[in-house]
Amino acid sequence: MHRIAEIQCIDMRHRIAVVGSGPAGLTFARVLHRHGYPVAVLERDPAPDARPPGGTLDLHEGLGQLALDKAGLQAEFRALSRPEGQAMRILDADGTVLRDWRPRPDDQANPEIDRGQLRDLLLGPLDVQWGRGVTQVVPGARDGVLVHFADGRQETFDLVVGADGAWSRIRPAVSPVTPHYTGVTLVETSLDDVDTRHPDLARLIGDGSVAVYGVNRALVAQRNSGGHVKVYAQFRVPLDWHTHLDLADVEAVRSSLLALFDGWAAPVLDLLRHGTAFVHRPLYVLPVSHTWTHVFGVTLLGDAAHLMPPLGAGANLAMLEGAELAESIATGPGDLDEAVRAFEEQMWARAGRWAKITMAGLERLVSPDPAQALALFDQVQPS
Ligand SMILES: Cc1cc2nc3c(=O)[nH]c(=O)nc-3n(C[C@H](O)[C@H](O)[C@H](O)COP(=O)(O)OP(=O)(O)OC[C@H]3O[C@@H](n4cnc5c(N)ncnc54)[C@H](O)[C@@H]3O)c2cc1C
Repeated sequence: MHRIAEIQCIDMRHRIAVVGSGPAGLTFARVLHRHGYPVAVLERDPAPDARPPGGTLDLHEGLGQLALDKAGLQAEFRALSRPEGQAMRILDADGTVLRDWRPRPDDQANPEIDRGQLRDLLLGPLDVQWGRGVTQVVPGARDGVLVHFADGRQETFDLVVGADGAWSRIRPAVSPVTPHYTGVTLVETSLDDVDTRHPDLARLIGDGSVAVYGVNRALVAQRNSGGHVKVYAQFRVPLDWHTHLDLADVEAVRSSLLALFDGWAAPVLDLLRHGTAFVHRPLYVLPVSHTWTHVFGVTLLGDAAHLMPPLGAGANLAMLEGAELAESIATGPGDLDEAVRAFEEQMWARAGRWAKITMAGLERLVSPDPAQALALFDQVQPS
C-alpha cells in the first residue's frame, strides 16, 4: 500500500519547476515544452538582457548539438552558428605563430554561437518567470518540495530542478559541497568593431580564436559575431591577488594585467591595451565526480551539479543533461522519481569524465611549462 501511494505516474498534473534560465534550465524547459509538458522556469534576473550574455560557445556534435536536436532546434542553430569560428591560432609569448589551424568549410564538429543568440533560440515560446530569485528549497514538505523566493513568497512543486549555476541555492538541499578555487584567475575584456577599429588585431585573431601561452599565463581572444571580441587573460595567482587593486578602476586593472604579462609581444598586449572594461572571474570548481545521495523531489543540472574549468564542456553538458532529463520525464515509462534517479546516474558518470579532462586541461594550459599547452592542442585538434 505504502509503495502504491508513493508511485508518481508521469503525467501533466505534476508540478515541475526549474530554477535558472541558463543553458541547462532553458534546454530542460524547451524539450519538456516540445513534448507538451508544463514547467515553471524561475529566473532571478529581472529580464533576459539584464546582464551582458557573455561570450561565444562552441557546441559539440555529440553534446550541445545533440541537445538542440532533442529540442527540435538543430536547423535554427545551423543558420546562426559559425563553423569558421572553430579556427585556432597559437602563438608563443614573443608572438611567433606556432599553429594555425582552420576548419574545413563543412566542419560541423564544434561551431560557435554567441551566448545571447543561443539563449534567444532556446527561449522561443517559453514563458520564463523573470525576477523570481529562489533563496532555498525544502524537500519533504507535506505537499512536495517547498520553494522560498527572495520576495518572501513560497510555492510547492513535485520536482524542483536546480539549474542555477556555480553558486546554486538548490544544491544545499542535496549536497553540502561548495566550489573551491582552482588557483587560476581569469579576467575578461572586450573589443568592439574589431575589423574597423583594430584591423591588426582582427587579422591576428582571424575567424576564430588566438591563444598565447607563457609561464603560468595565457591570453585567449575569441571572435564573436558582429566584430565583437572577448579577451580572456588567465594566470595562476592566490585568490587575494587583487587586495591592493580597485577592480572597478579600469585603468588600474589594465596596468596590473600589463605588468602580469610584461615582456609579451606588443601586438598580443594590444588585446589588453584596447579592452573596454574588465570582469574579474576567479575560476572555481566542484570536486571531480561530485555526487550525492538521491533526494526525493530535487535534482541538479549543469554547473550547479558539476562546476568545472571553462574548457568548452560546461554549457554542452548542461544542455545535454537538460534535454535528457526532460526526455526521460516526458517519454519515460516509469514514475517521476525513477526517471530522476536514472538520469542522475547517467549525468554523474559523464560529468565525472569531463571534470577530470578539464581539470587536467587547465593544469596544462596555465602551466609553468608553456610547451604543455601546445602538446595538449596537438593531442585534441585534428591536423
Ligand atoms: C569565460 C567562460 C567561457 C566559457 N566557455 C564555454 C564554452 O565555450 N563551451 C562550454 O560548453 N562552456 C563554456 N563555459 C562554461 C559555461 O558557461 C557554463 O558551464 C554554463 O553556462 C553552465 O550552464 P548552467 O545553465 O548550468 O548555469 P548558468 O549559465 O550559470 O545559468 C544559471 C542561471 O541561473 C540563474 N540563477 C542563479 N541563481 C539563481 C537563483 N537563486 N534563483 C533563480 N535563478 C538563479 C542565473 O541568473 C542564470 O540565468 C565557459 C565559462 C566561462 C566562465
